[in-house]
Amino acid sequence: MNIWNLIRNNFVQRAHTRRPDDLVPVPENFRADLVHETNLCVACETCAYVCSPGAITFDRSQLGRAAWQYQMLQCTYCGRCVESCPTDALSFGTTPQLLVHSLELTRHEIETFPCTRCGAEMIPLPDAVLEKQYGFPVPTEMAALNRLCTRCRKKVTSEAVKRGFTGR
Ligand code: SF4
Ligand code: SF4
Repeated sequence: MNIWNLIRNNFVQRAHTRRPDDLVPVPENFRADLVHETNLCVACETCAYVCSPGAITFDRSQLGRAAWQYQMLQCTYCGRCVESCPTDALSFGTTPQLLVHSLELTRHEIETFPCTRCGAEMIPLPDAVLEKQYGFPVPTEMAALNRLCTRCRKKVTSEAVKRGFTGR
């Protein structure tokens, strides 16, 4: 192509450069930042277990709290943690934003409570999750079970089954 054709084509063809007000549309299911809602998290560690690159870790060194930790630089945005979270505490933002890459961990602390039967540290399911599961108001029996640690919940359930069979 000679130079005159090139100049003519540049005049005829529309510009390829996108203008600031002509943004590329955001694709459906776009994964922006990973959002962790601390008030919905029960520190079950499922997200850390399924995260192959180890972007999510837990710190349980402090009494009375568990810390959910996220290292953005290790995250591949695969979404396995979001799919696996039993309480929907994890999701992806959908708005593209300028991500500031930082070596600093994102750290969210989750308070633990004593089991009402044995006093062991535990984290009850948040009210929103219980209500979604059992409706509102949450049955008293379920609310009481929710304040027990896993071990005591198993004991209470097996005692109830035993009572059902033996009557005592
Ligand atoms: S899977 Fe969900 S509830 Fe469990 S620790 Fe991770 S964010 Fe919290
Ligand atoms: S999106 Fe994937 S890589 Fe990122 S924290 Fe979740 S499981 Fe790990």
